[in-house]
Amino acid sequence: MRRTVYNEDHEAFRRMLREFIAEEVVPVYPEWEAQGHVPRDFYKRLGALGVFGMEVPEEYGGAGETSFKFHAVITEELNRAGVSFGGSSVHAALCLPYLLRYGTEEQKRRWLPPFVTGELMTAIAMTEPGTGSDLAGMTTTARLSADGSHYVLNGAKTFITGGVQADRVLVCARTAPAGPEDRRGGITILVVDTKSPGYAVGRNLEKLGLLTSDTAELSFTDVRVPVEDRLGEEGRAFEYLTHNLPQERLSIALYAYAQSAAAVRFAHAYVQERTIFGKPVAGFQNTKFVLADCQAEVTAMEALVDRALDAHDAGELSAADAATVKLFTTERAATVVDRCLQLHGGYGYMREYPISRLYADTRVTRIYGGTSEVMRTIIAKSMGL
Ligand SMILES: Cc1cc2nc3c(=O)[nH]c(=O)nc-3n(C[C@H](O)[C@H](O)[C@H](O)COP(=O)(O)OP(=O)(O)OC[C@H]3O[C@@H](n4cnc5c(N)ncnc54)[C@H](O)[C@@H]3O)c2cc1C
Repeated sequence: MRRTVYNEDHEAFRRMLREFIAEEVVPVYPEWEAQGHVPRDFYKRLGALGVFGMEVPEEYGGAGETSFKFHAVITEELNRAGVSFGGSSVHAALCLPYLLRYGTEEQKRRWLPPFVTGELMTAIAMTEPGTGSDLAGMTTTARLSADGSHYVLNGAKTFITGGVQADRVLVCARTAPAGPEDRRGGITILVVDTKSPGYAVGRNLEKLGLLTSDTAELSFTDVRVPVEDRLGEEGRAFEYLTHNLPQERLSIALYAYAQSAAAVRFAHAYVQERTIFGKPVAGFQNTKFVLADCQAEVTAMEALVDRALDAHDAGELSAADAATVKLFTTERAATVVDRCLQLHGGYGYMREYPISRLYADTRVTRIYGGTSEVMRTIIAKSMGL
């Protein structure tokens, strides 16, 4: 079925990106995987290409687009080639909406121009060693100094994507204790300079997949954060997170869809090349049926993400909508990618085949940005259950 979500600007961007990825990313990707991150200087190249600035207003150096569809194109093209831009995946898709929506004019002037060029990379730190799904249970604290000039930040975060290389991290911290009635109040976002004394980056965590994505443990010991670096109002972070999580979940759903589409593409090519019992693997009826089933799943996912993209651009994607799209696509992707790997036989288990990367990378889409169980909780609540 013909897709109607993209216009000529999106398609021109796609063509440019496809060429760039084929020439500049695919050949060096195994090196990036071996070193566990994307070289920091590469982010400046992405900045020059316009990847980080699509939705940044022109006065701060961006392209001034209002559509999230350019991100969808980036996601589709990266997965089509079986690669990623590493830890920078959160920079423009997840962190930017917070800066745009809650940043003051002065903060935008300070942070957005280097954000666009890739000189100032960002990450977002919500999860703590003791709490992930239950964000209101966070224990990192930020105490306002007696003269009101700065916060003193103490605590630890974990699993922070892009956290090893980030220059600024949007840290969620308690500026007031949780109330007995309202556990969600009292959390504030501080945009912390990673060079501050007392700020420490722990290990680049070793993961099952997403090998080019740096994932960090962070700790804060009496880190002084100027009040000018608080994002939005004190105590309202939970409300801000609730507003922005649908976009994060849509972006994960897009990954799951794009990974599934890529898996079918890789399997489709492989089964025609590989000959066994004197005929191509594609010649077995099982192969045709498996790929037909997978293609049908991908088409259903595509219809859902396309509808969600339009709803998001129109400002209508609710928390329950985003949870639905994330739950459906990520759970289906698990089956699709697994079945496409199976068609590769033993080669599918070898890292040199991109299907193996997709298999490892897609697993986390059911966990981060809120687990499938949390998505079910949100959907059930929206059903009055
Ligand atoms: C590769 C990676 C990158 C990440 N990047 C970031 C990042 O950049 N920034 C950031 O802040 N965080 C990040 N995270 C953290 C991620 O969002 C959390 O891992 C996720 O929200 C789950 O939290 P948890 O790991 O503490 O699991 P837990 O909350 O401990 O969950 C354990 C189990 O309990 C289940 N569970 C939880 N609540 C319920 C419920 N109500 N009903 C039924 N079952 C439930 C869960 O579904 C899960 O199966 C990342 C994680 C990974 C793995």
